[in-house]
Amino acid sequence: MQRLQDRVAVVTGAGSGIGLATARRFAEEGARVVCVDLDEATGSSAAAEVDGLFVRADVTSEDDVIRMFQTAFDTYGSVDIAFNNAGISPPEDDSILETGLDAWRRVQEVNLTSVYLCCKHAIPYMRRQGKGSIINTASFVAVMGSATSQISYTASKGGVLAMSRELGVQFAREGIRVNALCPGPVNTPLLRELFAKDPERAQRRLVHIPVGRFAEASEIAAAVAFLASDDASFITGSEFLVDGGISGA
Ligand code: NAD
Repeated sequence: MQRLQDRVAVVTGAGSGIGLATARRFAEEGARVVCVDLDEATGSSAAAEVDGLFVRADVTSEDDVIRMFQTAFDTYGSVDIAFNNAGISPPEDDSILETGLDAWRRVQEVNLTSVYLCCKHAIPYMRRQGKGSIINTASFVAVMGSATSQISYTASKGGVLAMSRELGVQFAREGIRVNALCPGPVNTPLLRELFAKDPERAQRRLVHIPVGRFAEASEIAAAVAFLASDDASFITGSEFLVDGGISGA
């Protein structure tokens, strides 16, 4: 028996990076995976690969978020796991003195408001089932800040962490676990895009990672699958760091 046998998992940002690796891992562990992405080409290719369902949705739109959970439920009969993961990288100069209000708002919208919407519309299904696991992607910067000036990004991830703690505590008695996943730097298109803008930044980051390398997305996916499974039955409201030791250094 696989750990996630027949669980229905909704993965946002499933077309790339951590979301894609997690969709694959969930499927390997027996889940039925609903791959959600704004990008039709990558999202539908991920769904085909994991023999799952693709829902094109913008996670900043409440109508889209309602529709994606409804589609998951109508197709597979439950919503057991929500991996609320879609996100964007910080604007080019994301220091407090440079970031404009529009850029700030866009990052909060995609990285934080989307998680609020996804939790809000996943929880009613889980409540009816008396069981569910929500994993929200924050970041190690939510725990320790960042010396590389990414104020809108760090603030958005801090919000995800605080929201996950609060919901984990609030819904613990109803069998719904909510955790914040805090990855360190992961070798994905998002990180590569960030470092392409500022190559020195990659070097500076690397120096501070005790294991001496960036994570592969599959290493993050392994932690998400654990949090989604009953092996993590006593873990809720946590900040789950998968960061190669960066926060302890
Ligand atoms: P990625 O860019 O590889 O993938 C993000 C996916 O989200 C893309 O497929 C994109 O199309 C989708 N997406 C973006 N906006 C969307 C929207 N509005 N609606 C639906 N889908 C949308 O990024 P990644 O590195 O895999 O990052 C995934 C998550 O992990 C993000 O929340 C990111 O902030 C977080 N994170 C990444 C790192 C890292 O180093 N890569 C570290 C810590 C946290």
